[in-house]
Amino acid sequence: MFTRRNFIHTTVASTGSLLLSNPLTQNLGTGVRKPVVVSTWDFGQKANARAWEILGRQGRALDAVEQGVMVIEADTSNMTVGVGGLPDRDGKVTLDACIMDEHGNAGSVCFLEHISHPIAVARMVMERTPHVMLAGEGALDFALSQGFKKENILTKEAKNAWEKWKKSAEYKPIINVENHDTIAMLALDSQGGLAGACTTSGLAYKLHGRVGDSPIIGAGLYVDPEIGGAAATGLGEAVMRTVGSFLVVELMRQGRSPQEACMEAVERIAKREKRPQDMQIGYLALGRNGEVGAYSLQKGFTYALQDEEQSTTVAALYYLE
Ligand code: ASP
Repeated sequence: MFTRRNFIHTTVASTGSLLLSNPLTQNLGTGVRKPVVVSTWDFGQKANARAWEILGRQGRALDAVEQGVMVIEADTSNMTVGVGGLPDRDGKVTLDACIMDEHGNAGSVCFLEHISHPIAVARMVMERTPHVMLAGEGALDFALSQGFKKENILTKEAKNAWEKWKKSAEYKPIINVENHDTIAMLALDSQGGLAGACTTSGLAYKLHGRVGDSPIIGAGLYVDPEIGGAAATGLGEAVMRTVGSFLVVELMRQGRSPQEACMEAVERIAKREKRPQDMQIGYLALGRNGEVGAYSLQKGFTYALQDEEQSTTVAALYYLE
């Protein structure tokens, strides 16, 4: 349960950086921190480093988030994003991704097979089509028409893991496995432009055809240039049922700090779900002044942050003791 102790812990965890959100202080009034980039999980640090190469030379947040998450999409040792992602029940790797720019434009792909960089396809959906989202074969056809090559993205390691899983073949969503989750990234560039990206292979061994929260604008990711951005990781179904990232941004619009907004969105899930103890949800938020918030349902969610002063990973506070 949420306790006073959590509050104090949050405060302590927040002192490392000027604008890491302190839930006890709604308006810090300490000015704007930019550029800054945050992303989910410890592996986000590697993605942030790439994003920072762009942000640090006054580049655009949109390029930074796309290039940043592509590092993880290409990393075959990561088994929940891009190449090397764990397959569904039928042994097929199906990818979900979405992106939003500093004008609130959005692009998304879901249930996409054979393409190692779904985030780049999502950006093309946003920039080169009148649509927001393409799915399955249509998304693949579009990717191929834009010059992407069909690849085998099921690695030997992922195939072996699937074959092992098949022996017991229990469909049970994984709660929280360190270093195995969606990468979502939010960045604020030196011009004040905000962008976000989110990419995943989704739940391991999901039913074929399952699409999670990650490519759904407002669920896995939402950016409102006037307010800030938010992103989610964890059990997508619970995030979708509460339109989580949109909720976080709307709460920020109503005056909550990024930290308070993440906390309220997690609490809503904890109260609505029958068995919150069986799932993990993590929210990450970035205000347009560079203020950061993060909160999860269970222990274990971390995020990576980079700005002019630091590159660090932070353990998020959590709801369930
Ligand atoms: N949110 C992702 C999904 O449900 C998975 C994750 O972040 O762990 O597909």
